[in-house]
Amino acid sequence: MSIHLETDCVIAGGGPAGLMLGLLLARAGVDVVVVEKHADFLRDFRGDTIHPSTQNILDELGLLDDFHARPHADTDRVTLSWRGTEITLADFTRLPGRTRVLSFMPQWDFLDLLADAADRHPNFLLIRSTKIERVIRSGDRIVGVAGTGTDGDVEIRARLVVGADGRDSTLREAAGVDPIVIATSMDVLWFRLPKTPGDRHPFVQAGDGLLITIDRGDFFQVAHVIGAGTWAGDDRLSRMKERVARISPPVSDAVDALVLEDVHLLRVRLERLRRWYTDGLLFIGDAAHAMSPAGGVGINLAIQDAVAAARLLAPILVRGETPRPSDLRRVQRRRSWPTRVTQFVQRRIQGPLLSTGSRRMPVPLRLLGRFGVLSRATGRLVGLGVRPERVGVESLRRGQSVARRTGTRSTGLGQMSRRSASSSEMP
Ligand SMILES: Cc1cc2nc3c(=O)[nH]c(=O)nc-3n(C[C@H](O)[C@H](O)[C@H](O)COP(=O)(O)OP(=O)(O)OC[C@H]3O[C@@H](n4cnc5c(N)ncnc54)[C@H](O)[C@@H]3O)c2cc1C
Repeated sequence: MSIHLETDCVIAGGGPAGLMLGLLLARAGVDVVVVEKHADFLRDFRGDTIHPSTQNILDELGLLDDFHARPHADTDRVTLSWRGTEITLADFTRLPGRTRVLSFMPQWDFLDLLADAADRHPNFLLIRSTKIERVIRSGDRIVGVAGTGTDGDVEIRARLVVGADGRDSTLREAAGVDPIVIATSMDVLWFRLPKTPGDRHPFVQAGDGLLITIDRGDFFQVAHVIGAGTWAGDDRLSRMKERVARISPPVSDAVDALVLEDVHLLRVRLERLRRWYTDGLLFIGDAAHAMSPAGGVGINLAIQDAVAAARLLAPILVRGETPRPSDLRRVQRRRSWPTRVTQFVQRRIQGPLLSTGSRRMPVPLRLLGRFGVLSRATGRLVGLGVRPERVGVESLRRGQSVARRTGTRSTGLGQMSRRSASSSEMP
């Protein structure tokens, strides 16, 4: 059974960028289909940090209470323990706005929140278990996407195609767009450690590489940040165990029990597209700019791209018009500067964070520890980002009333189930 749809906007990828854009467009009255290759949002290899700027956006959308009702933990500062000495890396206590905490929420819960909110709009559809494989062209213009779901071929045509399919974007390849690769000096080892009641570990520990420990309730998800390319050689596991024991002696017994298969290597990539759009197609989030985990700001940037894209493009789509390349360029113009600045800062902080060998704390960390004003400045940079975005709920509502007045709706979604569906559930 194959599926053919026609809609206003089709988004490849139901990550933070794709779901937030889907939600905002649907709120504005635009028909939108989000296609996600996985059946659910469960995955380990994702960040869990929801920053104040993202929470401010949820607040604007009336979703902050729902966010607070889901499993999460808050902190008003990020501290780093350097061989036992604690310093504040980022202090959020003086941020402007209502939210002055960074929250840790498993990404699947956060994505569920966005999907549930979007699902309340009849013009939103999430198709799961469907992988987008190619773009559909009409002359030079991209007019849709095609892929495979559990029950066969899927073809969706739209006035706007958005690639929000992450750092290994299939759409980027299908459209023939190559990113600029920026050198990065880190890789991440990812593993789980058992947790017994009462166990607590500092969130960030440093001294010989970094150890980031995320409390997931019944286990710890650990990211061990190491120098790029150093996970090599037959003795790599024993070297890792020695390093971790130096950074955090309390976890060394649990780490000793790990075998090679328990440790997953994630190569960190720092990339960005020179041009985030072609005629008919826009990239946002990691598909436009893969971020390093340094500072844990990738979700934030992805969400802010989505907010900017919705604010600039929803009014056009809702009038029944097709966004021109110059409209898509406005999204890139708005978001590329904060991306470049953030990537520049990520590159600069990788060295001090990774510094190995020396027993002395690197100078930037010592300065942060000594001057509170610096940790408040990093709190602002990490917590709000370089260019925070606002939804401008009023402008999106105005879009809704234009849609009602002009009746500019495409036909595809009217025949579809309102609920998120896997392709097998669809007619
Ligand atoms: C180890 C690591 C740790 C990180 N930690 C943090 C952190 O703590 N905080 C933080 O803010 N950021 C963190 N990040 C970065 C963050 O995860 C990303 O920047 C963010 O998830 C980007 O969101 P996105 O929506 O653009 O892409 P993604 O989250 O990658 O979402 C893309 C979605 O598209 C789907 N998809 C892919 N291809 C297709 C296809 N062909 N068809 C259909 N669907 C497809 C994927 O399944 C996925 O759901 C980390 C990154 C790494 C690598």
